[in-house]
Amino acid sequence: MSKKVVVIGEAREGSLRNVTFEAIAAAKIISDGGEVVGVLCGAGDLQESGREMVYYGADRVVTVSHEELKTYTSEGYVQAVHAVIEDESPEGIVMGHTSIGKELTPKLASRLQSGLISDATEVVNEGNSVVFTRPIYSGKAFEKKAITDGITFATIRPNNIPSLDRNDSLQGEVTEKGVEIKNIRTIIKDVIRKSSEGVDLSEAKVIVAGGRGVKSSEGFKPLEELAEVLGGTVGASRGACDAGYCDYALQIGQTGKVVTPDLYIACGISGAIQHLAGMSNSKVIVAINKDPEANIFNVADYGIVGDLFEVVPKLIEELKQLNV
Ligand code: FAD
Repeated sequence: MSKKVVVIGEAREGSLRNVTFEAIAAAKIISDGGEVVGVLCGAGDLQESGREMVYYGADRVVTVSHEELKTYTSEGYVQAVHAVIEDESPEGIVMGHTSIGKELTPKLASRLQSGLISDATEVVNEGNSVVFTRPIYSGKAFEKKAITDGITFATIRPNNIPSLDRNDSLQGEVTEKGVEIKNIRTIIKDVIRKSSEGVDLSEAKVIVAGGRGVKSSEGFKPLEELAEVLGGTVGASRGACDAGYCDYALQIGQTGKVVTPDLYIACGISGAIQHLAGMSNSKVIVAINKDPEANIFNVADYGIVGDLFEVVPKLIEELKQLNV
């Protein structure tokens, strides 16, 4: 049965995040031939970003531009998105399972008196119901949840549901809605980004992660080079962050970021359960560790027993020769 589904888009520093396009693809599945309406909040002219959502499959986009929406606050965004949802009366709402998505969607769901499926890694339409797959027990198992009636409200994990190909011949209206935003109690004075430069960890296709075995911040240099050669980014275990080798913004795991890249290279990481919680669903895992008994080898697709300071430079050399 076809449905109208709203996709809440997310931009960072003026650019839409990839997960917005993945959310549109998920919304297409849920809508089953119905209408997919994008919502985009921010300040200034949002036309271009709105059109980008159309090129990735949204049938039309509603933008809400307001000075109070320049920087995300849940109070402002809840008011703006809720106003659009009231107009649209959708049967489905989808957003990325990002820091913002994790905060905004439960608040909206409670306003709408609706349930919420969070962190979905797969969405399938089975006629009368939409079936979501989501990890439980820190990624050790998956559960399937079927929604048969009511609002289908979900967040989707970045890097799991492929976005549709960009097609700039697609047509769709981008309209602006005026919303009165009031009672903002949060004052954002400054936004300081701490994460690594370049590719965002949660959306990275390739991650080279270092653990305590990297031994120093200097020891991260070869990992950074390997990541650069592969067009990826660097991550870390909490062991490495606690030791002060890198910033906590790089931490992957139960209390860090959850990532699902195409390739995860773990260097000098033992594979503690709390680390695996954040990366074990990566598509291909390569582990480099000098201890053949290290737990990380139990989840690795390819294991290299050896000293990372010998193995990583060799990998860089080989990859450069292959011109990857
Ligand atoms: P270690 O366990 O010390 O492992 C270092 C590894 O490096 C060893 O396997 C060693 O053989 C190898 N090594 C050493 N030298 C070399 C070399 N030259 N070449 C190759 N290999 C080498 N951890 C996380 O990562 N993320 C989390 O989100 C997280 N959350 C936690 C939450 C809680 C509540 C708790 C209690 C713990 C959490 N931890 C988390 C910590 C976790 O339990 C581990 O302590 C941590 O993951 C260990 O980091 P590590 O693998 O880098 O270090």
